[in-house]
This record gives sequence, C-alpha cells and structure tokens, in this order.
Amino acid sequence: MEENEVFSQLFAIVEQYYREQRSGTFLDYHNPEELTNLLQLDDPEGKENWENLFGWVDKYLRYAVKTNHPSFVNRMWSGASLPTVIGEIVTAISNTSACTYESAPVSTLFENYMIDRMLDIVGFTGGQGQMTTGSSNANMIAMMCARNLYDPAVKEEGVSRGKLVAYVNADAHYSMDRAANILGLGLKQLVRVPVDHRGRMDVDILAQRLAETEAQGRQPFFVAATAGTTVRGAFDPIEPLLPLRARYGFWLHVDGAWGGATVLSETLRRRYLPGLEKADSFTMDFHKMLGSSLICNILMLNRGENMLRSSLAAGDGSYLFRDDGEDGLLDLGPSSLQCGRRVDSLKWFLDWKFYGRAGLAARIERFLELCGYAEQCLGRHPELEQMAPRESFNLCFRYRWPEAEANRFNLALRTRLYQRGISMIGCAYVEGRLLLRLLITNVSVDEGHVERFFADLVGAGRALAAEWMAGTSA
Ligand SMILES: *Cc1c(COP(=O)(O)O)cnc(C)c1O
Repeated sequence: MEENEVFSQLFAIVEQYYREQRSGTFLDYHNPEELTNLLQLDDPEGKENWENLFGWVDKYLRYAVKTNHPSFVNRMWSGASLPTVIGEIVTAISNTSACTYESAPVSTLFENYMIDRMLDIVGFTGGQGQMTTGSSNANMIAMMCARNLYDPAVKEEGVSRGKLVAYVNADAHYSMDRAANILGLGLKQLVRVPVDHRGRMDVDILAQRLAETEAQGRQPFFVAATAGTTVRGAFDPIEPLLPLRARYGFWLHVDGAWGGATVLSETLRRRYLPGLEKADSFTMDFHKMLGSSLICNILMLNRGENMLRSSLAAGDGSYLFRDDGEDGLLDLGPSSLQCGRRVDSLKWFLDWKFYGRAGLAARIERFLELCGYAEQCLGRHPELEQMAPRESFNLCFRYRWPEAEANRFNLALRTRLYQRGISMIGCAYVEGRLLLRLLITNVSVDEGHVERFFADLVGAGRALAAEWMAGTSA
C-alpha cells in the first residue's frame, strides 16, 4: 500500500467500525494473558509497512471496549458525538498547539468564541474562561486562583502552613484532594463536609465549621459545591452558600464536571443550578454527558478578566508568547497550566454548530427521562434494591443478598456481566456497601435497552445465585 492510499483504507475501517459499534457484544473479553497471546505484541517492528500498521488497528478495534454500545453504562461518558470525532480527525491532521495565536489562529478564535457563549449562558458577566484538560485540572486551577487571592504572597513565598482552609462535599471528587495536595495546602486543610440523606452538603454543619475556622484565626478561602456528585448524582444547593460567602468571604467554586451540563437546559438549570451565576468559578465537562470526544472541558471564572493570568503566569515565556504584538494579546497559553495545548475547541465548536444549544439541552433532558424510566424498571424487579434516592442522572442499586456477603456477591455479578460482554456497569462503595451505578450517556440508548439491561442483569444474578447456593462457584 502507498502512502496516498492510507486515508481511504483508514476511512474504510473507521466506517465499518462505526456501523457495527452498537451490535454484537460490547466486548470480546480475554484475560491479560490470553489477550497478550492474541495480540502478538512481539511481531516484528520497523518495516514501515502500512498493511502491518492496519493489522494493528484491526486488532485494537477487535478487542477494545465498544464504548458506544448500549450496554456500556458505567462511565460518565460513552461513544463520542460525530461532530467531535470529525474535530479530532481535523485536529490530528493539522497538528498544532493552541497556546498562541501565531500557531493556532483559528482555534484561538473558536475557543474564545465558545468561552464567551458559555460565560453568557452561565451568567458570569465580564468573567473569563479557558479550556482545560478536564475538571480535575479545572478544580485545581480554581482552588489555586482562590489561594493566590487569599494569600497573595504564596506564589512567590510558598505556602502559609495551615492558614487557608477549603471545604467540599463529603462525596466530592478525588481531584479536590489532589488539588489540595499539589497546591501545598495540606490534606488536613481540605474539610469534607457531611452530607444529608440525599447526598447534599449539610449547610448547617458547613456554617459551624466555618465559624470554628475563623475563631482559630484561619481563613476559609474555598468552598466547592458539587453539581452532580460522582456516585449519587446529588446537587449541592448554591443559594444557601451565598450568605455564608458574604459572611466569611471565601471563593465559591461549582464543580459541574458531571451535572454542570444541565446549564444548557433552561428547565434543568432552574431545577438544579439556581444561584450559579453568582458563583466565583464553575467547571463543566463536554466530554461526559454532552458527548464530546475526550478530552473537552471548560473552566469559567467570575472575577474579572485578569484572574487566570495573574494567578498562573510565571517564568519567562518570551520565546513563545508575543504579547508585544496585537495577536499575542489573544494567546491562551500564558494563563494555562500547559505549554502544548490540544485544539479541544474545534470539537466543541463543531458540536455546538451541529446540534445547537437546544439540541444539546434536549439530549440532557432525555438522559434524565431515561434515568427516571430506569428507576421504574428497577422497582419492578424484586431481586434488586435501590441504594440511594435518585437525585438526577445516577441510579444506585444492588442485587439483594444477605448483608455479610452482599458486597462479594455484587462484585462477582458485575465481573460476570463484564467478562461475558453483557454489560459494563459502574460500582462504588458508599458507607462500606458496594452499589452498582447505572449511568446513561449514550444517545442510542432507549427504553427497550434499559428494560433489557435489567432483565439481563437479573438473569445473570439468578444464575449466579443458584451457583452460589449450590456451592459450585465462590
Ligand atoms: C468526572 C468528575 C471530575 C473529574 O473530571 P475529569 O474531566 O475526568 O478530570 C471532577 N468532579 C466530578 C464531580 C466528576 O464527576
């Protein structure tokens, strides 16, 4: 094969994969040893042979998890939307870094255009934003801006031990702990506030902790509301936090990695995010429910237009940044954690132009409706028990089994569903109890798939139960 045939070959493979990605099982499972043999990783290298290369592509696609399959319901994302896949391909072929206007003029304007659309929607008038490598980094940058604001010497002088204290929902994402670690706050200064029975941060307890911190002469500098917790899908109410912010003066961040997508729908925003426009910062992932290909995220700040730059810029970037010229003023790199920056804006831009805000909002509303339907199905299976009230897009349940062995049984059931290619469902421990977590983020999933998902799960559960009772498998 010649180089000029590469694309037609590639697109033939891609097209076939795309057509078949929702049929058959979502996975042809092999254990690591078997898979190593099947892949024949030691096949000769260095031949510069395109047929060989496509052989590897074939193997990859044959044994990979088909994330666009309706049985893939365990992550906050699934197969990417087609406009963003096109964006990825164009981004790859025109490989550049979105750190300066010079090297990425179009994407710089795309990125700023999309940030302005989102600032407008969120209601951060006169704010600023940037696309980051995900909510993990966005949470860290928000915490860092807050730290630099409350302890301005820290950027030059290092961390003031124990002076700054941050607060998050007890179920907040682990990226908050990582941020506290990386920023030198000390993990003890990250307070996980207990939640109510719906998984929302208990504001009365938060108020007590804030008062204690202040009485100790320390500064509560950062409170993060989670808009859609990772396991239970709870939304911390933002409005009750506003008087506390007025009293203690902290930075109020909203981690909307998962549930922040509701901002695109007027009805869901009213229900889940009242008060958001008054927060100091907000992050949301386009690469979860909204279906962009990984990675695609935005962080927005509501603190004027220089906050990111003053907090992040450091070191001599004169070899790269042309802030002496007119173009250079648009450079996105000086206020970014990264030097090389992927052109993530193109994916989001194409999705936005293709589906429009209304189309994306309808997608989120539909996921919520389907999750409600899943809850009804769950109620029709006496073998299953719901493990947490459903707040939004997450449905937590388990297969009924005597408490002492319930975790082990449900883990075995989950493994069986995965290895037999039936479905891939998430799991998590809440208060020591293993629960299964259904997440629907795939636009091809409908009510029929949801019914079948539960029927298959219960079928596998019954078979496993029979084996356990007969003592044939442990
Ligand atoms: C997924 C998630 C994150 C991490 O986001 P990434 O974009 O994967 O880094 C942070 N917070 C919450 C609540 C999440 O669900």
